[in-house]
Amino acid sequence: MNKLTTFPYEHVLVLGLAKSGTAAAKVLLANEINVRVNDGSEVDNEEVVKDLESLGAEVITGSHPIAVLEDISMIVKNPGIPYDHPLIKEAQNRDIPIVTEIELAAQLARGPIIGITGSNGKTTTTSMTAQMLEQSNLPVQVAGNIGTAAVEVAEKTDHEERLLLELSSFQLLGVQMFRPKISAILNIYEAHLDYHKTLENYQQAKCNIFKNQIKEDFLVYNADDPTLVQLVEQANAQLVPFSVTGYQDQGACVSDGFIYFKNESIIKVEDIVLVGEHNLANVLAAVSIAKLSGATNTAIKHVLTTFTGVRHRLQFVANVQERLFYNDSKATNLLATQKALRAFRQPVILLAGGLDRGNGFTPLIPDLTYVKEMILFGETAKKLEELANEAGIPSIMTKDVMEAVDQAFASSVEGDVILLSPACASWDQYRTFEERGDMFIHAVHRLA
Ligand code: ADP
Repeated sequence: MNKLTTFPYEHVLVLGLAKSGTAAAKVLLANEINVRVNDGSEVDNEEVVKDLESLGAEVITGSHPIAVLEDISMIVKNPGIPYDHPLIKEAQNRDIPIVTEIELAAQLARGPIIGITGSNGKTTTTSMTAQMLEQSNLPVQVAGNIGTAAVEVAEKTDHEERLLLELSSFQLLGVQMFRPKISAILNIYEAHLDYHKTLENYQQAKCNIFKNQIKEDFLVYNADDPTLVQLVEQANAQLVPFSVTGYQDQGACVSDGFIYFKNESIIKVEDIVLVGEHNLANVLAAVSIAKLSGATNTAIKHVLTTFTGVRHRLQFVANVQERLFYNDSKATNLLATQKALRAFRQPVILLAGGLDRGNGFTPLIPDLTYVKEMILFGETAKKLEELANEAGIPSIMTKDVMEAVDQAFASSVEGDVILLSPACASWDQYRTFEERGDMFIHAVHRLA
């Protein structure tokens, strides 16, 4: 296991006993650092506590007494704990440095780090990038927001291995020395203001991804986002812009129906399996990172012609008798469904409905141009039927996603897209959007 390189702190408080907290505590203990772990709730899993105690940690659960700060020289904070938490404020008063586990991961990783952040598209871009590197036989380990705790993966990496991290703004807030060889910012929308308080704080958190980069490093960014174009002016790294609208000779762009990276044509846009303009931006980001890492064009092409999307996010499921089925169960609001509808220029049968949050659906009307029929289910079926009537689109009421798939198939002809993009949460009929999406996939495979 790799050891921490420079770590002048002897007594560390790990705040929050979630997956990443436990992993961070274990790494610190393995590096012979005194660890106190504190979680505000009682921990359900006694085993975790016992395990940490047997390794030498002091574990305090159920509340956050100020006394847990006694003798502490550094805090590793769970990204979910806000900075206005009384304990954090007190720690700040005492000038105790506060980081998240990615700071530890950066010290444990032996190979280059690649960090991807943004308000939207992180998982999609990270997954595609990972596959492009793997296909090029470039060793890579994926971690962070996407699943496994970064420290857990980082301590096992060797000099050849890239550590590819999906990073949220929460993880980036406490950056001290974290320095990716390649960083990428996909976009910055106004988000998580309950946590960050101001848009400026949120933007600054995202910018922490390049804060420590030097001129040998690279910063991939979305040149179609005016805020981002301004923000990256502070960076020391080499700027690698990508754009779906304008030509970029220093980065990635779309021109004459092809994707280019630094003036080299990589793939015909038509051959990319992933649909939607937002995904094209993700593709450009992934191509940029992959090319900067040394991926081959053959590998990149292979991934882009086979990558069907992250599960439940406008994911291509199957072609059944020339009907194309897409699962966008993650679309639990109007905006997400609008984005999905804008991805198609051929007849669409839309499967929608779910939990009634009291909102109307009229803003969807301009995006229904290619929708030839709506198959509805769930609490909002009636409201959506009214919308369909208003838009002059035939609709059918069904009992659930299973029946909706059968109905859609029955009314479809060759060349139709059959799209599940419910515009509603799933909880009236399904426990999660994943369960709803899995039901859709199951129903489609049954047809096939
Ligand atoms: P994240 O990991 O950042 O949450 P995902 O890749 O899981 O992002 O995509 C989640 C949803 O965000 C998608 O279903 C889509 O609606 C939207 N989305 C994805 N990429 C982008 C993008 N580049 N710009 C805007 N919206 C996007």
